[in-house]
Amino acid sequence: MQAEIITTGTELLLGTIVDTNAAYLSQQLSRIGLNIYFRTTVGDNVQRIATAIRQALSRSDVVITTGGLGPTVDDVTREAVAEATEHPLTFKEDLWMHIQELFARWGTAARENNRRQAFVPQGSIVVENPVGTAPAFIVETPQGIVISLPGVPRELKYLMENDVLPYLKNKLHTGEVIIKSKTLRTCGIGESTIDDLISDLMASPNPTVGLSAHPGQTDVRITAKAASEKLADTLIAEMERQVRDRLGDAIYGVDEETIEEVVTRLLAERGLRIAIVETNTGGLIAQRLAGCPQGQQVLAAGLVLQTPAEAREVLGLSDAQIEGGLVQPQVASLIAEHIRLARVTDLGLAVMGSMEPGETLYAATTGTSFAALSSPGDTICHSMKYGGTSELAQQWVSTRALDLVRKHLLSQ
Ligand code: ATP
Ligand code: MG
Repeated sequence: MQAEIITTGTELLLGTIVDTNAAYLSQQLSRIGLNIYFRTTVGDNVQRIATAIRQALSRSDVVITTGGLGPTVDDVTREAVAEATEHPLTFKEDLWMHIQELFARWGTAARENNRRQAFVPQGSIVVENPVGTAPAFIVETPQGIVISLPGVPRELKYLMENDVLPYLKNKLHTGEVIIKSKTLRTCGIGESTIDDLISDLMASPNPTVGLSAHPGQTDVRITAKAASEKLADTLIAEMERQVRDRLGDAIYGVDEETIEEVVTRLLAERGLRIAIVETNTGGLIAQRLAGCPQGQQVLAAGLVLQTPAEAREVLGLSDAQIEGGLVQPQVASLIAEHIRLARVTDLGLAVMGSMEPGETLYAATTGTSFAALSSPGDTICHSMKYGGTSELAQQWVSTRALDLVRKHLLSQ
């Protein structure tokens, strides 16, 4: 069964308020197994809302509207539903009594414009609203069902939980449908490469597989829809096995796990410690590790410096060793080894980078970083090129540098 959502309100179109109702409704409807293919936002205009409802009914089984059920002239959803469904508005004496009672309880009298709220489309199912004045209603038509709910989020949630979801579950006759997701988190492999590797799996209807990219890492989200949690788990496990076959050790963790947590855990499990020197990441790598459980235990040193002179003063390097600047692979390797030996620790990481201001705000920097990792056996160095705002670049470089450490630890 397909459902779609129409949120109404000129203030939504102007961006004055954020459409949290649409997100809430999407979550609730998909949770009970309804497919959502469209969401529409319309201003407070009878004709445009009616057009949106007619269009929605032509392609979906259930249409849910929010907003515009209040007493004022800009609350026009009632009229729009009446027009779109050809169920003219009729006055409900009992609703009017109820509204008057509510106002009496608040110590005032209902005004004439509140009478508007006692009108509902003919033949509709009235959904009483004990948490507000605007009653909601459900119109069942041969084209589909229209459910009109108030815009105030608290009232909307109350009516969804108490009336609309039970009503829809009953219509669905499928009982509970479980929707469950698992996220596989990857690093060191671009979104488009992943897309190439698993595009056939991404076409699967159930479980679905989707990607979302973050600075330096990409999530692969597997979502299953099934009659029970156990069945959903089985579907996810089978898809996960196939994704893991293709992406291998690019997958560093699952769900909420961060790369710094994984690196900290791997170091702690092996009883290892790491010392870090950074330039333009400004201490972010050390900070990300230090913020994890056991982070303080595995971080032997974290040092930020920017210029060759500082490297000379603080690390005791010679002019010859740093000639040509810090952003060079051999210098990064030298510093990684130097900090490892100086701190008598297991691993030394040096991330030496530069950022050039860009032309526009959105391409604020371009840069190159060299990440070198020194262990007693050897020193490896990776180069990275990037563009973007400096904040994103710092996230990106620090994530990739942490991934270098992770891959080294896994290869041991
Ligand atoms: P009222 O009886 O208060 O007039 P209503 O059903 O007519 O309720 P609206 O007038 O459209 O609903 O909206 C009332 C308030 O609810 C808005 O001012 C806004 O704060 C909030 N609201 C409406 N729609 C949304 C939405 N889609 N997302 C989040 N908040 C909303
Ligand atoms: Mg209103």
